[in-house]
Amino acid sequence: MIYIAISTWLENQVNDSLRLTATQVASVFYDVEAPQNPLDIADVRLQLESGGLAAQSFLRDRLFFIRLIDPSEQIVLAASADYGIPPSPARSDAASYDTVVVDSAAEMRIYTLPLAYAPRYVFQVGLSLAETRAIQRDVLGILLVLGLCVVALAPLTGWFLAERALLPIRALARTAAEINETDLSRRLDLTAAEVELEQLMRTFNAMLDRIEAAFQRQRQFSTDAAHELRTPLAIMQTGLEVTLSRARGAPEYHAALVSIQEEVQRLTQLANTLLLLARADAHELPLEIRTVDLNLLLLAVIEQFAPAANAKGITLAHHIPPGLSLQADQDRLIQVIFNLLDNAVKYTPEGGQVRVSAEAADHAAAVTIADSGPGIPAEDQAHIFDRFYRADSSRNRARGGFGLGLAIARRIVELHGGTIRVISQPGHGAQFIITLPARVRTPAPLA
Ligand code: ADP
Repeated sequence: MIYIAISTWLENQVNDSLRLTATQVASVFYDVEAPQNPLDIADVRLQLESGGLAAQSFLRDRLFFIRLIDPSEQIVLAASADYGIPPSPARSDAASYDTVVVDSAAEMRIYTLPLAYAPRYVFQVGLSLAETRAIQRDVLGILLVLGLCVVALAPLTGWFLAERALLPIRALARTAAEINETDLSRRLDLTAAEVELEQLMRTFNAMLDRIEAAFQRQRQFSTDAAHELRTPLAIMQTGLEVTLSRARGAPEYHAALVSIQEEVQRLTQLANTLLLLARADAHELPLEIRTVDLNLLLLAVIEQFAPAANAKGITLAHHIPPGLSLQADQDRLIQVIFNLLDNAVKYTPEGGQVRVSAEAADHAAAVTIADSGPGIPAEDQAHIFDRFYRADSSRNRARGGFGLGLAIARRIVELHGGTIRVISQPGHGAQFIITLPARVRTPAPLA
């Protein structure tokens, strides 16, 4: 396209200059005073054939000529130079351009201008196209060389740019490959990142944060579980060693076995709880969803705690409107209420109060278990639903809890698509609020 544009421009330049020259020369011989006067051929000849030598030789190089011809007779009447071009233009009735080849090599552009004031004659101005063709050839040559360079450089440049673009991705891949479970704290360096990659690296780092946190929780969980297993095992070990250290009577053996039975029960409970959590995590805890009468369910669980509450002089009150029903796994829901009531009765001091209430909320049911116990410090509230977390471990271990009750309660409520939260001010009791959708959306979410 560049070549075509330049060629057209060059040819137009030649055409324009030829036309201009022809028009100027024609006007020189036009007698304004007496337009009817015939063209003075002798004068034209004289004018055309004279001219400076220098100009002549300059023009000869370019095969330039001006001539007056009679096309009908095909004769040259006057000419500034003769290059043997026949005086027979393609058209003589209108101004026109021709390209002719002289001496089988030189191309010439010729402009033919019929004279309005002397209709028999036409002026012709011609110029060699050698220079134009030379420039065209040069342009073509330059363009070809440039084109070849582009063709040769394009893959190289492409390769270079791709290499540069891939460099940070390679670095990213290297770092990613170096990160393993023993060194999860490494992160990708964002300072050197290209803008386009920054988002990706941020996402990658955020993912590593989550994986590291999950690993950390997992490690903590294993450590805690081992710790919990060790205590009853150590108690049994010591009990057995003491009992077996010498011969004893039947009542002593009986007492030792009863003590071991208690610890085995505790271990069994722990094992069952861990298994339940593991199955919930692995999405293998199927929910048996059916319509549950909340009123009946709550009253049944409350009744189980009546003896324990009585023994501590705790008032166990409830406010549960009849006819509250929802879709849920009854046994799991009993477990949630049981854990919460167990805590309430366990942590409320003698003479305190525990109150269970329920209400229908917007397409949901809310159950509140409130007590007048010591409450939970604000810094613990965010953690009490974590596994093995005890707000006051020395105090609570003695009371028999593993710190798993609330973790299980939360997991079950979540499986039902509900929420559980705590409101508490230390010294003013604690209030656990469970909200459950009236209908579990997916029939059995993780079955
Ligand atoms: P635990 O078996 O130790 O009771 P939970 O998971 O049920 O474990 O509870 C976690 C911790 O939350 C408890 O150790 C206790 O410190 C605190 N907590 C739970 N419920 C109450 C409550 N009603 N009053 C005061 N503290 C509570």
